[in-house]
Parts: sequence; structure tokens; C-alpha cells
Amino acid sequence: MNLKAFVRDINDFPQTGIIFKDITPLFNDPEALKAAVQGLSSLVNGKQVDKVVGMESRGFIFAPILATELNAGFIPVRKKGKLPYDTISESYGLEYGTDELEIHVDAISPGDKVLVHDDVLATGGTAAAVRKMVEKLGGEVVQCNFLITLEFLNGRDKLPGIEVASLLQY
Ligand code: AMP
Repeated sequence: MNLKAFVRDINDFPQTGIIFKDITPLFNDPEALKAAVQGLSSLVNGKQVDKVVGMESRGFIFAPILATELNAGFIPVRKKGKLPYDTISESYGLEYGTDELEIHVDAISPGDKVLVHDDVLATGGTAAAVRKMVEKLGGEVVQCNFLITLEFLNGRDKLPGIEVASLLQY
């Protein structure tokens, strides 16, 4: 199935110069949605995964589904101030702007094998910040898994030593 047919380019969103990859048409189509879930879980290639970490907000769409497919728990990483319990945080640079992410201090047990999932890998700042937090809590990132990688932004360079996998490349 050609999943790229369900990804829509939106020019100059959310600011001038950004070509935003809108994946809502893919969510909207039952067959494309199913194919994306199957594709993302097969990228994991049988690795043991204890926890799937998803990043707010579009990472929240596939990460819990992947967690159920992989018999793993789901951990939300949220923007600063949204998580109710004790957190650790990490600042990061985006393709557009900077922000701060948080994770609950008890979300990961030392030695947990962690799959990090987000919809798009752009500059890699978000995933690199999540990796740092997972490692601070004693987890091991076994893969960073994306629906889309924007290869021209070289986000993989910010994730040295980590396997990066994606269904669609641009
Ligand atoms: P980055 O930290 O630069 O890798 O940015 C990744 C995060 O920003 C992801 O959570 C994406 O949802 C979002 N993002 C960045 N650039 C784009 C883009 N061109 N289209 C869609 N989402 C994007």
C-alpha cells in the first residue's frame, strides 16, 4: 500500500518556510491506518520492548497502539507542566522554535528496553531529548521509530548509536 498517498504537504504551516507533513488523511482511512500500524510494529523486527514512549502530541496516536501490539507499556512524554506527578525534563530545539519535555520519574525501571515513537523525525531535537530522559532513568532505547523521516534535515545525526527506523522517507 502506498502510504505516501495519504500524507499531505501543507506549505508554510505553522510558519513560513515549513512544509508540514499532515498525516490526518492516513488516520482517516481504515486500510491506511491498519497498514501503518502493521508497518510500524514490523519495523521493530522482533526486538524485546518493555515500554513504548510517545511524544506529545502526534506521537500519542500510534505509540499506545504499538505498545499493545508489542505487549509493552505506554509512557507519555509531555510538554512542560502537563504531567501531574514528579518529572524530569529536557530542553530541545525544534525545526521551528524550542521547547521543554517532561517524563514521570517512575515511568521507566532501570534496564527497561524502550521503543521511542513519534510521527515525524525532523531535526532530531525532540527524539534526542527523549533519549536523554530515558537514559537518565536507566532505560535503554532499542529503536527510535517514526512514521516519517525528513532525511534532508539529518535528524539521525542527533541520535548516535541508536537504531532509527521509519516507514516513509522524504
Ligand atoms: P524535530 O525535533 O525537529 O525532529 O521535530 C520533530 C517534532 O516536530 C515531531 O513531533 C513532529 O511532529 C514535529 N514536526 C517537525 N517538523 C515537521 C514537519 N515538517 N511536518 C510535521 N511535523 C513536524
